[in-house]
Amino acid sequence: MNLLILDYDNTLADVYGEYGEWYIFRNKTLSDREKATEIYEKYRRGSDTIVMFDKLLEVYEIDDAHIFFQKNGMGKQLFSDTITWLEDLRKHKDALEVVILTTWDQKLQEIKIDLTGLRSLVDEVVITRNRDKTEEIKKLIKKYSPEKTIFLDDRIHMTPADFDTPIHIIEMDRKWEKLWAGVVHDLSEIPLALLVSK
Ligand SMILES: [Mg+2]
Repeated sequence: MNLLILDYDNTLADVYGEYGEWYIFRNKTLSDREKATEIYEKYRRGSDTIVMFDKLLEVYEIDDAHIFFQKNGMGKQLFSDTITWLEDLRKHKDALEVVILTTWDQKLQEIKIDLTGLRSLVDEVVITRNRDKTEEIKKLIKKYSPEKTIFLDDRIHMTPADFDTPIHIIEMDRKWEKLWAGVVHDLSEIPLALLVSK
């Protein structure tokens, strides 16, 4: 069995697009967009660099974040190839386990993954405030004991040498800015054979 570990923000979902949280916070909260942006800039990150989500909700006076984001289309924030690709991978359940690993505010990430419906298309969703993904990947490898691991993220901070089991690290660049080998720009560029073969 192989293990595929997927980042969420800007790999599976366009969180900087019009259905991303930042666009919604800045454009759908206050009638004064300048003020809304000012609040966003002030509270988006705390001392641990993680978004101060609860503080943002408080200052924008959002009572129910789930309903608020649902109303503003957050469920549509996935890139257009995400669902079909994950559905196709489900056909190879016997060869591949799929985990979403995302690092950010727990509540915010839960809402995004709930609204986009991804939970039913993967084996597990791990949401952590630990920004050290190498550590989190090692935990998943220990849990699943895969023959090989494939990790896909738009921010790569590790190399295969950081692991003592076989791992393919693939960089995602949805903006098509990095046009060199080893970087993919949509999910179809990842060969199925790499994911499902031993
Ligand atoms: Mg990302």
